[in-house]
Amino acid sequence: MTAPDPGTLDVTLVDGYVDEPAHFGVPPYISTYPRFTAGALVDAGVPAERITYHTIDELRDERNKWRDVADADLMIYLGGMTVPGKYVGGTPAEPDEVREIAWAAEGTSLMGGPIKFGVGEENAGATETERSDLDFEFVAKGDVEAAAHDLIINGLEGFGDRMRDVEEVTQWAREGAFVVEQHPNHPEYLICELETSRGCAYRCSFCTEPLYGNPSFRPPPSVVSEVDALADRGARHFRLGRQADILAYGGDGEA
Ligand code: SF4
Repeated sequence: MTAPDPGTLDVTLVDGYVDEPAHFGVPPYISTYPRFTAGALVDAGVPAERITYHTIDELRDERNKWRDVADADLMIYLGGMTVPGKYVGGTPAEPDEVREIAWAAEGTSLMGGPIKFGVGEENAGATETERSDLDFEFVAKGDVEAAAHDLIINGLEGFGDRMRDVEEVTQWAREGAFVVEQHPNHPEYLICELETSRGCAYRCSFCTEPLYGNPSFRPPPSVVSEVDALADRGARHFRLGRQADILAYGGDGEA
């Protein structure tokens, strides 16, 4: 079988929302996952106009949008609540809804985001060390944006789990900025979560941030170029939230 031409693929991203110790993604926030994943898809050759983004709340309210889940050649679910709280701007996806999304997808399905760390049935946080695949064909155990990129390059046949590098995140963040225009809160009621680093030098037992390893920092020009791209797409509100500690930027964790 010949590999599908990335230029002909329709991809749907479903945002079930994330909430991590150092990463907000429940509206009015939009996490980095859908933006970076959209950019990775574009880098792999999928035209931006063939990438559709829906939030779980849109799917609840507008049943016709499930057509985009069913018809996509590749459907990517992004989610995971490792520190669930109470939310007023949106309701995170429940495990049964995530399964329904997997069942509805007639094309290839991929799940990623902090959901890889595992969630209990009631979304109570990272209480299990093994996450369930919730009936998805593929689960990204590394970075979902790298998985999406490599899956397209490999003709939807598979990918090796890996983390993305600084060069990739710089490019993907810029190229995926367009996806914010598809968020129902865009532009006035949307806050773009910005990543300056991830990982942590400490190992607090209740926290999932160390699962990203020791801190890896994103160079300031990488962040600035993403803000430029997001602003060009109408984004007005930003939060420097995707890092363990902004005051420790560039440090080694030593006091
Ligand atoms: S110091 Fe690091 S491990 Fe501890 S709570 Fe903060 S981010 Fe998590």
